[in-house]
Amino acid sequence: MAKKPPFIAGNWKMHKTIPETIDLTTAIIKASKDLAEAEIVLAPPFTALSEASRIIGGSAVRLAAQNLHWEDKGAFTGEVSAPMLKDAGCRYVIIGHSERRQYFEETDAGVNRKIKAALQSSVFPIVCIGESLAERENRETMVVVSRQLEGGLQGIAGGGFEPIIVAYEPVWAIGTGKTATPAQAEEVHAHIRQELARRYGNEPAECAIILYGGSVKPANAFALLSERNIDGFLVGGASLEAESFIQIVREAIRAYKEKK
Ligand code: PEP
Repeated sequence: MAKKPPFIAGNWKMHKTIPETIDLTTAIIKASKDLAEAEIVLAPPFTALSEASRIIGGSAVRLAAQNLHWEDKGAFTGEVSAPMLKDAGCRYVIIGHSERRQYFEETDAGVNRKIKAALQSSVFPIVCIGESLAERENRETMVVVSRQLEGGLQGIAGGGFEPIIVAYEPVWAIGTGKTATPAQAEEVHAHIRQELARRYGNEPAECAIILYGGSVKPANAFALLSERNIDGFLVGGASLEAESFIQIVREAIRAYKEKK
């Protein structure tokens, strides 16, 4: 499998005002200048997207949104559409994060509509999947991620978005300080790649970027990214400080360089 530059996305969730966004984005851009081997992506809240985009400017750092609505426009109070994200400077959008599934009743069918809407506007989806603790304990992990992939990617043709970006985020590891071991994560990542190969063929599956998310820190980033099928990270808590986020990027690049 061809090596892919590490893809490290920071999901800021409902954190950071505009002045805080300016500070954090500026610090990350400054530090990222000697980290060109990685694709660095920042996902601030909607209110700060435009300002983050202005600061990112022509740098190699990319912007992502954390959610979108599936319609382009209309009477959907409080929602934001894919063309609006594009307009604000977003290259990526996170779709189906477990917090959205858990607190906002997002379903695989809704995720599917959102993926299609994002693609229509050439905003690339980062599709989040992952099992709960109960599902893992019941040995249902593979069934759950297969089902989420099946539902989320329904009707989306191969090559519809290149590359495919999936974030495996075990719910029990998000914001809990519990990380999947590299072996646990690798087992699921390999399964996800197999599922993508079954659906789209070997080449798109090999090009797919499969991220791990769940309490990623500088201390565990190297071991996780050293696994064959782990191409990068979706980072929550540790992306809120420039130092920890950049340290994760450095560790990811170090692992990438040593990868066969
Ligand atoms: C996330 O929200 O996508 C995430 C992985 O959070 P954390 O890194 O804080 O576990």
